[in-house]
Formats: sequence, structure tokens, C-alpha cells
Amino acid sequence: MTSSDDRINYLDHAATTPMRNEVVEKMLPYFTQKFGNPSSLYSMAGEARYALDEAREQIAHVLNSRENEIVFTGSGSESNNTAIKGLAFTREPGKGHIVTTSIEHHAVIHPVEQLEKMGYDATYIGVDNTGRVDPEEFASAVRPDTFLASVMLVNNEIGTIQAVRHIADLTRESGMSCGADVLFHTDAVQAAGKISLDVNELGVDMMSLSGHKIYGPKGVGVLFVRRGVVLEPLISGGGQERDRRSGTENVPLVVGFGEALTLSESERLSTRLRMQRLSDRLVKGIIEKLPEAIIDGERSSHVPEIINVSFQGVEGESILLGLDFKGIAASSGSACSSASVEPSHVLLALGQEPSLAVGSVRFSLGRQTTDEDITDVLKALPLVLKQLRAFPSST
Ligand SMILES: *Cc1c(COP(=O)(O)O)cnc(C)c1O
Repeated sequence: MTSSDDRINYLDHAATTPMRNEVVEKMLPYFTQKFGNPSSLYSMAGEARYALDEAREQIAHVLNSRENEIVFTGSGSESNNTAIKGLAFTREPGKGHIVTTSIEHHAVIHPVEQLEKMGYDATYIGVDNTGRVDPEEFASAVRPDTFLASVMLVNNEIGTIQAVRHIADLTRESGMSCGADVLFHTDAVQAAGKISLDVNELGVDMMSLSGHKIYGPKGVGVLFVRRGVVLEPLISGGGQERDRRSGTENVPLVVGFGEALTLSESERLSTRLRMQRLSDRLVKGIIEKLPEAIIDGERSSHVPEIINVSFQGVEGESILLGLDFKGIAASSGSACSSASVEPSHVLLALGQEPSLAVGSVRFSLGRQTTDEDITDVLKALPLVLKQLRAFPSST
């Protein structure tokens, strides 16, 4: 904004990412020359159909799945809704139980709450103060009528990685011993490009992904649905996506998704060390310059890219405005409710007092983040806090 060089220091990659040029280039022909409907029979439609198949192949390769286990959706949120409600709607209405966690994204929590209103039951398992779910505790919540378990792979606010494989194994065992047929879903939207998405290593039956968190387009998601799993479609119509999600396929966005996922997977291991180093520098710098700062969670069980820090006695939103004034884009908890400052449900689940949780800021690094960006934050943040504390009512 008013930074001297007019360059925005973008540290909000967990909210969304800029599209990569390679992705844009690959999408462009499908808006104009190759615009055919993949279901039509002439040759131009064949190009669209072929592109759809190619993207499905690319994604199946990264997930170590079959191509027909990949369902394209309109967003990560839609993927989560399809997994959760789509499975619930195959059952006798209002009957059955879901186990999930208290730190899921709202695109999991809200559909589960919707189902609760319809008569389904749900259990939300809490986390320890580092944001980790206890696998034993999670699995012990399974009942004879449990049909779904959902645990996110990487948390979008504090970056905690869950032991999904272990939780899924124990959940399945627990289901078997009480006669429940439990399917396991994971929201892996924040994990893509950061940790392995191999669905067999993870031991999951369903997995959600989103294009715009991996330098791909907004408005496209993927739901991996393991062979044999039957879902009631949320959108019915022409029977596209093997009747699991109707609507003419959004070929350009799907092509962009395939390319974005392939590129982010191919760079995953090589970017990890750099991300770790930048992240360590930021965390260390914050602790040095602002000893009162509380770094949320425990860095060793987190992806390095996501850093959440809480301050007592200031509002996260005010810190953000101060940072924005210095050309730095970050985010505060999950206070998306415009009218009031709501403490993040994730930070409350870690056991934070609401008064501390409202003073939190999230920095999320990305592939273009540099050492200079980190230096900028370490310069700006103490100044912003000093100003806010000197004039506490001026917000
Ligand atoms: C962003 C996000 C979503 C939602 O994805 P959209 O494509 O924006 O709907 C779901 N889960 C997590 C963990 C996310 O970070």
C-alpha cells in the first residue's frame, strides 16, 4: 500500500495463492479455442474431453489413486460438503453418527452442524495445547452407528499436522470391534504441496483438495472417493463425474488444477528446507523482539509455512491494519464475521483465553517469500505493536 517500493509483502498464502504463470498459460486455450462441451461428439469437444482425462491422470498420479476415484467439484468447501452430506444422505434420514475434531475448517464443521439439525449425531474431539488430536481418544468415540470420521491433515490457522494414518487405523479397528462401518475423510486442502497426499499411505477413503491454495484457480476442487464408496450427489442433473457431481465440467479450471497440483508436488521436497529456514527465522525473530508474543502450537508438529502468534491486550485486526499500512498482508485468526471480533474456534480449542485469542495474527509463507520479506515483518511488527499499545483506544 504505502510501502516505499509499492511491493506488497504477501504473507497470507493459507487464505489464497496467486496463480502460477504456467497454470494460466495452460488454461487459456480452453476458454477460447478449445471451448467445447466434453460431452459433445465433434472433434473440438474431444480436445476438452482429452484435457479433462489428462488432468484426472495428473491428479491420480499425485494421490496414488485410480483416475475414476477423482471427482471434480466447485471448491474445497464443496468437496467437504459432498463427502460429509453425500455420505449421510445415503442413510436413513437423520440416523447415524459422525466423529470429527473441534479444529476443523468451517467447511467441515458447518455441514456437520447442518446434519445435526436434521437429526444426525456428532462428536467433536478436542485437541491438546499444540493442536494435536489424541488418536486413542478419537477412535474411542466410534459407536455402532458411526458412519463417518473426518480429520483435517493440516490445520489452516496454526499449521498442525495430524497423525491421520494412525487415527484412521485406530478408528477402523474401533469400528470393526463394535460393528460400525466407518469411512474416513480428510480435508487436505492445506496439506497439498506441503506433505504427501498418497491416499494409500494416509489410509483415507475420501480426501478434499482446493485449487486456489496451490497456485491454481479459485472455484475448483477435487474430492478423492475410494472405489466402492457410494455418495448421494449434492448436485444432480446431466450425470457428469460418473453421476457424482452434475454440471458441465469447468474444463479450464480443471486443467489448471491438474497442472498446479503436479507442479506443487514436484517442488514439494525442494521447497521444504527453504520454508523451514524462513519460518525459523521469523519465529526466532518474533520471540527475540517481542518476548511477550505467544507462538501458537508447537513448531515441530506443524508445517513451517503457517505461523500463528498471539498478543495479549491488542486486537489482531488492529495489528493487521498496522501491517497493511506498511505493505504487509497477513491475516488474523478466523475472524471473518465482519461485525464483531470473534475469537478463533481453533485457538479456543487449544485452551487459549478469548482475550488472548482475539489478539492473534497468522503469517503464511509461500513459494515467493524471501528473506527480505521476513526482515520487513521483523521490522514492522514491533513498531505496530508499540503504536497500538501507546494509543490503545485509537483503533
Ligand atoms: C481454504 C480451505 C477450505 C475451503 O476451500 P475453498 O476452495 O476456498 O472452498 C477448506 N479447508 C481448508 C483447510 C482450507 O484451508
